[in-house]
Amino acid sequence: MVTIEEARRIIMLQAKRLPVVSTPLLDSLGMVLAEDVRSPWDIPAADNSAMDGYAFFHDSLQGFSLPVCGFLPAGTIRTEAIPPGQAIKIMTGAIIPSDCDTVVPIEDVLVTSAGITLKTGSKRGSHVRKRGGDVGADELVFTAGTLIRPQEVGMLASFGCTEVPVYRKPVVAILATGDELVEPGEKRLPGKIINSNSLSVAAQVLEAGGIPVMHGIARDDLEATRELLQKCLAADAIITSGGVSVGDHDYVKEVIEAMGGELKFWKINMKPGKPLAFAVVAGKPLFALPGNPVAAMVGFEMFVRPALLAMMGHARIIRPLVRAVVTEPMCNNSCRPHLIRTQVELKDGKYNLKSTGDQSSARLSSLTLGNALVLIPSGATINEGDEVSASLLDRSFEMLE
Ligand code: AMP
Ligand code: MG
Repeated sequence: MVTIEEARRIIMLQAKRLPVVSTPLLDSLGMVLAEDVRSPWDIPAADNSAMDGYAFFHDSLQGFSLPVCGFLPAGTIRTEAIPPGQAIKIMTGAIIPSDCDTVVPIEDVLVTSAGITLKTGSKRGSHVRKRGGDVGADELVFTAGTLIRPQEVGMLASFGCTEVPVYRKPVVAILATGDELVEPGEKRLPGKIINSNSLSVAAQVLEAGGIPVMHGIARDDLEATRELLQKCLAADAIITSGGVSVGDHDYVKEVIEAMGGELKFWKINMKPGKPLAFAVVAGKPLFALPGNPVAAMVGFEMFVRPALLAMMGHARIIRPLVRAVVTEPMCNNSCRPHLIRTQVELKDGKYNLKSTGDQSSARLSSLTLGNALVLIPSGATINEGDEVSASLLDRSFEMLE
């Protein structure tokens, strides 16, 4: 039996970055840039007006009034000179004529029959966005490893990029095991239960940025399991659920070995999710998660998610930890570290948390009612008012209405 830390270390050694692919810019959202990117040009490309207003040469200003010699909307350029002492009406984004250096906003002038009169003085260079003021030509703007968010998409678009080099998303094969399982939508005969694990785990893969591919349900039979598992090997990683414990019909470990896979470990000292095997089969990481719905999801969260993120080139692969005050006592009477599902709340700027109740690994409500995991060492008691570290599974509770 390995510890959580040992299991993570063994798994991360196998979580190799996937090849770099050129991806259409918009599809790269959430992916990781695989190369440095320099700006091909100055942005903005030329000095331009930050306001709808009037442009003029500040030194030629005599008094507060100026005649207006023309109109310059965005997208056009002025080639004729602006006569000294005159202004040109200019719209936001229009390039400042070379013989002007200052813009006064429309709101700050009075329009007269002779032109404009400034309501107050004007400072040289005001309301002008300078060439290269955002990024300069050849400036190193993004280094390899940058996470692409909407703002990075916008910046890359302004560089004229239509495709970007990113680490590929892992294709993840998902296989359930168990004679008792039927798929959602199928008839639920007595004794049968719905295969919820494949869906919850596929959702976790999607949330991590991977591409889940469903491979159905393997019956509790060595050959049937082997046949389906063989098909899963086309993926970059394989996740199975169930059949990895010590029951009479738990064939997954046996099949892995029969397929020549290298079993790295098959038990982790944690609760829920002790029967969790990790193997490398035909060069592919295979995560054999437990069958119990909570154990499968917690196993994914602890071990599969960080591995998938690393395969996609992410540097930050562990969820944020926050310090939270416990509002109800919690204890771990078991001989294994317990990952308690908890509900974290933000109250007066502080995190509070309490357990989601019955922590049975078959009780999926212990996860649906919660938003964080808290690791309680074996034999430990946490009293009301104590502070613990909580791993936040989602941060939607911090959003405002
Ligand atoms: P096992 O490890 O195969 O003995 O499964 C442990 C428990 O998890 C049993 O009660 C199974 O019925 C349940 N289980 C196994 N696979 C799934 C699944 N895909 N969806 C929901 N429950 C499952
Ligand atoms: Mg089973």
